[in-house]
Amino acid sequence: MLVPERTLVLGLFDWFDKNGIEYPWGVNPEPYRVWISEIMLQQTVVTTVIPFFESWMHRFPDIYALAAADEETVLRQWEGLGYYSRAVNIRKAAQCIVYESGGVWPADPVTLAKLPGIGPYTAAALASFSFGADIPVFDANVRRILCRFNAMVSWPAGGDTVFTEFLSGSLKRGDYARWNGSIMQLGQLVCKNATPVCQECPFLTGCRAGLGGKGEFYPEKKIRTKIQKYSERMILVFKNEVLMEKQQAGIGKGLWIFPVRDRIQNRFETGDELFLGDFVYNYTNNRELLKVFKVAACGKNLPDGSAWAWVPLDKLESLPVPSVFRKIIKKLVD
Ligand code: SF4
Repeated sequence: MLVPERTLVLGLFDWFDKNGIEYPWGVNPEPYRVWISEIMLQQTVVTTVIPFFESWMHRFPDIYALAAADEETVLRQWEGLGYYSRAVNIRKAAQCIVYESGGVWPADPVTLAKLPGIGPYTAAALASFSFGADIPVFDANVRRILCRFNAMVSWPAGGDTVFTEFLSGSLKRGDYARWNGSIMQLGQLVCKNATPVCQECPFLTGCRAGLGGKGEFYPEKKIRTKIQKYSERMILVFKNEVLMEKQQAGIGKGLWIFPVRDRIQNRFETGDELFLGDFVYNYTNNRELLKVFKVAACGKNLPDGSAWAWVPLDKLESLPVPSVFRKIIKKLVD
C-alpha cells in the first residue's frame, strides 16, 4: 500500500493552513466538545452539525450538565440528528465519567473505547485531538482518499493497521493531530465523494487515481436501494389531550410516536376520523409513507404494561419525537 510521502504530507499541511476551516469544536478541542462533535458527525454532514453542536453546547455547556439531565431532555435536544441510541449512549458515558471518574477523562484510546457509544474511531479522534496522542484516525473521508491514492476499489481488511505502520515513516511525533485534521478536511473540501477536485489537491502528484483522471471511480460505490414502507398513524384526541406511544426498541427507542392503526384497534374505542395528511419518514435505509388520521377517542383508558401516555397538546413540544412527527405535531396544533 502506498502512503503519501513526507513532501506530500507537508503539502497537505500547507494546503490546510491556507484553506482549512476552523470549526467550533476545533477552536477549543477539549474532550467534551470533540466528543460531542465526533458523535454528531458520524451520520451527518458538517454543515448540518454546526447549528446542532452550538445549540447542544448552549443547553449542556459541560459534561456535568449533560450527566445531570434526564434521558428525555437529552433525546429532545438530539432531535433531528437521528440514530437516537447515540444520544442515549452520550448521556450514559457522561454519567460514567462524572459519577465514576470524578469528571476526569481517560486519555488513552483503549480506555476511551470502553465508554458507552465510543468506538475505536471516536476514541482515536479524542486521543489525537484532545490529548495529543500520536495515532491516525480513519473515517470515511480518510479511507476514501487512501483508496484513491492507491487506486483501490475498496478498503482492505486490516487496512487501518497496515496504513498506520507505513504512515509512521511520513509523520513525526507530534504531527498526528495536524495530519488527522488536515486529511479529514481534504476529504470534505477537495477529495469529495462524488466529485474530487484533483487540480486543487496537494496529493495529486502521488495519487494513482487522480493522475489517471479517475478519482471518482474509487472506491467502488455501493448502491443502496431504499426499502419502501407504508403505515397509517392515528392521533387519538380526547378533549385537549392526545395519545402517544413510546418506542421500546429499534433506532428510535425512547422516542414518542403516534401509534399505527393496528396498535389501537381493539384497545381504544374511537369515533370520527379526519385525514390530516401524508408525511414521509426517512430513517436508516427506509422510506415510510405515513398516512395520518386525527381520530376522536371515546375515553382515556390506557392498556396495561405498555408505554402509552395521554399528553396535553401544549406539552407535545417538550416530548422527544422523530423529526417527521415534529412536522405532524406542527400541523396538528397550527
Ligand atoms: S488527487 Fe484527486 S483523487 Fe487523489 S486524493 Fe487528491 S482529490 Fe482525491
